Amino acid sequence: MEKLKMITPLVEMDGDEMTRILWQDIKEILLMPYLELKTEYYDLGLPERERTGDQVTIDSAEAAKKYGVAVKCATITPNGQRMKEYQLSQMWKSPNGTIRAILDGTVFRAPIMVKGISPVVKNWKKPIIIARHAFGDVYRASEKRITGPGRAELVFTARDGTESRQTICDFDGPGVIQGQFNQDSSIRSFAHACFRFALDMGQDLWFSTKDTISKQYDHTFKDLFQEIYDREYKALFEKKGLEYFYTLIDDAVARVIRSEGGFLWACKNYDGDVMSDMVSTAFGSLAMMTSVLVSPDGKYEYEAAHGTVTRHYYRYLKGEQTSTNPMATLFAWTGALRKRGELDGLPDLMAFADRLERAAIDTIEGGTMTGDLAGLWEGKTPARVVTSRDFLTAIAERL
Ligand code: NAP
Ligand code: MG
Repeated sequence: MEKLKMITPLVEMDGDEMTRILWQDIKEILLMPYLELKTEYYDLGLPERERTGDQVTIDSAEAAKKYGVAVKCATITPNGQRMKEYQLSQMWKSPNGTIRAILDGTVFRAPIMVKGISPVVKNWKKPIIIARHAFGDVYRASEKRITGPGRAELVFTARDGTESRQTICDFDGPGVIQGQFNQDSSIRSFAHACFRFALDMGQDLWFSTKDTISKQYDHTFKDLFQEIYDREYKALFEKKGLEYFYTLIDDAVARVIRSEGGFLWACKNYDGDVMSDMVSTAFGSLAMMTSVLVSPDGKYEYEAAHGTVTRHYYRYLKGEQTSTNPMATLFAWTGALRKRGELDGLPDLMAFADRLERAAIDTIEGGTMTGDLAGLWEGKTPARVVTSRDFLTAIAERL
């Protein structure tokens, strides 16, 4: 069989630990036999980040900007213990944070659904994709413990020196205060990314905040979304028969639980943090959750939502064959290949990505899976638990 050809390279961002092993295996077993895989390779593994002073992360993000589509392996975000383990000269920042800052993107998380593993919420039939605004609010807030009576005020000093102030609270005893912010530019980027992604996926977009209580802050989010929708996306949504729907966060939560899924739910930073963990847990497993970063100018970075699966890696280093689930990492590759095919006009490459995903889902639905899924399995015949490599080989056989 002649191998499929690519035109533009994918930006390949390699990573750490168990996912780095899966990365190699996926390429060897499922990609290279069928595809003349074209990538521009960046090693974001911790040793290479240390060696280059983290320049490799910046270079990889710049490459993603240049080529438009990247696929990323999970990476270690160093902490004190990792500093010792890898003898680091600095506690390098989270690569995801660095890449996000350069691409200025929004993160979309979507579950991979298979028959035989049902969501905890029994009426969910289709995936719910969460779009999380990954900038500002409580994550960049300034806070202060108030130790005794006094007045807390909100003060804004304009560039020209004029000052405006308002009272937050006249404290009659100890308490706490917090100052949050966001910027219109970031909220606008978030809105564009959501509208674009909904159009891409052909799904309705829901957006929720608490604008009835937060009449300036959350209302700004609501207004900017509406303004951008009316001006740039309304006609496109209507042409595709899609809906943009705004509602209060508490109403959204109730509707999401009662829904059958199949839409995109845009959330502010904190709501997205909490709701994406709830939704992914309710869909089954973190190992079945994919993630894509989309920039406002249409650059894509695909990855798994989980980390480097350290515990499995230590067992692997002892010579054990692990049963780590490669699905989310595989779907990062297929997502990136499909997008590359779409941008380069290569329908065969897109079809290959579809077939590979189908083969992977069919393998699980046929009862062959990794250990993490076995406990969730409700199929008629007992699950056949295999190692990561045997699982990938089973997918290749179906393919
Ligand atoms: P993790 O790698 O997601 O793993 C947590 C646990 O979840 C694992 O121990 C395993 O449970 C289960 N799990 C996750 N993915 C799995 C898979 N594919 N197959 C089977 N089981 C899976 O999170 P962590 O252990 O907290 O973090 C490890 C490292 O990853 C950290 O250094 C962190 O900085 C990094 N991290 C990176 C990213 C990223 O690059 N996007 C995201 C999160 C974390 P059992 O051990 O019970 O089997
Ligand atoms: Mg969280």
